[in-house]
Amino acid sequence: MGIRTVMRFAMVISKLVIKVGTSTLTAGTARLSRRRMLELAQQIVALREEHREVILVTSGAIAAGRERFSKFHRPLAKSVPVKQMLAAVGQTHLMLAWEQVFDMFDVPVAQVLLTRADLSDRRRYLNARDTLNTILAHQTLPVINENDAVATDEIRVGDNDNLSALVANVVRADLLIILTDQDGLYTADPRKDPAARLIPEVAQLDDSIWNLAGASRGGLGVGGMTTKLQAADLATRSGVTVVIANGSRPTAIIDAANGRPVGTRFLPVTSNMESRKRWILSEKPLGAVRVDEGAAQALFEGKSLLPVGVREVIDEFERGEVIEIRDSSGRDIAHGITRYSSSEARQIAGRRSSEIAGILGFEYASMLVHTDDMVILHPVS
Ligand code: GLU
Repeated sequence: MGIRTVMRFAMVISKLVIKVGTSTLTAGTARLSRRRMLELAQQIVALREEHREVILVTSGAIAAGRERFSKFHRPLAKSVPVKQMLAAVGQTHLMLAWEQVFDMFDVPVAQVLLTRADLSDRRRYLNARDTLNTILAHQTLPVINENDAVATDEIRVGDNDNLSALVANVVRADLLIILTDQDGLYTADPRKDPAARLIPEVAQLDDSIWNLAGASRGGLGVGGMTTKLQAADLATRSGVTVVIANGSRPTAIIDAANGRPVGTRFLPVTSNMESRKRWILSEKPLGAVRVDEGAAQALFEGKSLLPVGVREVIDEFERGEVIEIRDSSGRDIAHGITRYSSSEARQIAGRRSSEIAGILGFEYASMLVHTDDMVILHPVS
């Protein structure tokens, strides 16, 4: 009975990424709307009180920077460095506004500024994931934006819709809510066609859907729907449900999180775990570890690989790379993402997890490969 209760509880808890666009934050004006931010925060706090984990991706830095500069009546060039400067000025204001709003509910916030490079490079991806999960584990709300001030073209995500999908993938969220100033995806542009109808659910993001947004996958679309569809495509393919809804609806977040009809819901194409495992299997392992029988048995039982069970470290690899896990006879039994590089793994092999910090001078995690980051190749015989 105990286990069943725990399992049911575990299914109720979910992880959500909520992306708030500039138009939602400013309520269509030229300034951040504290009132709108408060409405959003109230909903986020309500979800947290139900033990759901929430990550906020917020735009509005450039808008807040502009708001600041408008006081000085200084004409500004439209160049990229000027935008980056505005983002740098505005980010502190944006963050301060969020902090003040969440302070009312005693919710601590943590600013995380990311670029594409932080989420595509394997080591940095793991670092970002560990940091975000640690922030969540400390009941703190991660508030994410792109690091616009330093993001040059090669490392930029470019828009927060796609950034929020990458974040949802990194933290393995169940749901991504993209809040905008439209009610969702329509059969036609609702600003031009009065017959346009809202599409409540998209099971498959095929060409007919891309065409509705007046866009191709790479092109520019109406009302910013293209980047939202790109985000929905990316997220649903990594097992995340996506809802695009109107951020001015006072219960948009709560409704989306509870599966009530709101906006357009995009169903995941695959499960979160499946997509991750497929990715692990598609990577060529760069090295290997040979483990003892106890460790091999533990892996088959769904446990993580601890350094204590590692007998030998073969070849060179970095933290975040996929490695082979071999049993004592050399048989390849699993592939997984390593938390430690080969040289670190050599130092902690055969040692207890409690000794890691003493040996290396730091500790990323108590395990070498987490069970969630592992695919078992041979079932127990
Ligand atoms: N990172 C930008 C900002 O905070 C917004 C990008 C976007 O909204 O897509 O101003």
